Amino acid sequence: HADLALYQAKGSGRNNLHFFSRHLKHKATFELQLEEELHNCLARDQGLFLAYQPILDLHTGQVTKLEALVRWQHPQLGLLPPDRFIGVAEANGFIAKLDAWVLRSACRDLASLAAQGFHDLRVAVNCSALNLSRDELPDEVESALRESGIRAQRLELEVTENALMRNVNQALLLLERIRGLGVSISIDDFGTGYSSLAYLKRLPLDTLKVDRSFVMDIPGTRAGMEIVQAIIVMAHTLQLQVVAEGVETREQLEFLRAHGCDFIQGYLLSRPQPLAVIEEFLRHPHGLGASNVLPLRPAD
Ligand code: C2E
Ligand code: MG
Ligand code: MG
Ligand code: MG
Repeated sequence: HADLALYQAKGSGRNNLHFFSRHLKHKATFELQLEEELHNCLARDQGLFLAYQPILDLHTGQVTKLEALVRWQHPQLGLLPPDRFIGVAEANGFIAKLDAWVLRSACRDLASLAAQGFHDLRVAVNCSALNLSRDELPDEVESALRESGIRAQRLELEVTENALMRNVNQALLLLERIRGLGVSISIDDFGTGYSSLAYLKRLPLDTLKVDRSFVMDIPGTRAGMEIVQAIIVMAHTLQLQVVAEGVETREQLEFLRAHGCDFIQGYLLSRPQPLAVIEEFLRHPHGLGASNVLPLRPAD
């Protein structure tokens, strides 16, 4: 693992190298191997790809954005979801590289969709908490935009509450610079973290994404439904648009629409899919807009 250790040392200084070598001894061989393989994949631009999940505007019935979700096609382990390797990348200092790769790839894919006529589509990209504390982030966002030629208004960055709260002042500065470029900021998994209203008011945000765990309560207990309503009202009071995550049923969709939610995302509409499948989906959305009747797609 000499390469990896060197890489770590170059990237983050002696203390980290020391930490890293100590850390090494306590690690399971399996995780170590995963870590090294992921590092190689990033270096060679192999194995990682993006799946896209459409986000439906409930006011117009149109799919207006896609969320980019990273996947790893591992030669032995098969298709790995982000939960299996984001943590590994965070613990080993290459989450910044991973997120930068995702950002560039998503912008490039969006440019290719524009070339096929989807000019107004937007893309949302997730940003790790660790990445949100790097001063280089705004420059990386800017260069991803420049390289791909897409307008900043078509890019959204998703950050979790906890990422924002780790270092509010630094997050505030970085987000202001990124937003200054014209990029929108979404607060992801809202309701599962520890943000306070006082901070939400201060932060430069555009969109709030209601965590799936709340959407799951529709139609469940009365309290569960009232919480979702309250989040929508609060978000609108803060001038934020609301996306409901993890919408799986028609009832959830109708409830959210009736209570003024702006967007939905979830298996009801589509699972995250490779770009080629999403292109097909965008070309034939089965009259989504006109009838407001969602076609229930078979699970993959
Ligand atoms: P997230 O950003 O909250 O993304 C939504 C997750 O919910 C995705 O899981 C998506 O597949 C899943 N989902 C969407 N609709 C439904 C539904 O109707 N039902 C259910 N049960 N699940 C639904 P996924 O792709 O496994 O991603 C998990 C998390 O990994 C993401 O949560 C995000 O926090 C993180 N992640 C994904 N891509 C990246 C990335 O490029 N960089 C970073 N730093 N994190 C990423
Ligand atoms: Mg997200
Ligand atoms: Mg989310
Ligand atoms: Mg979530």
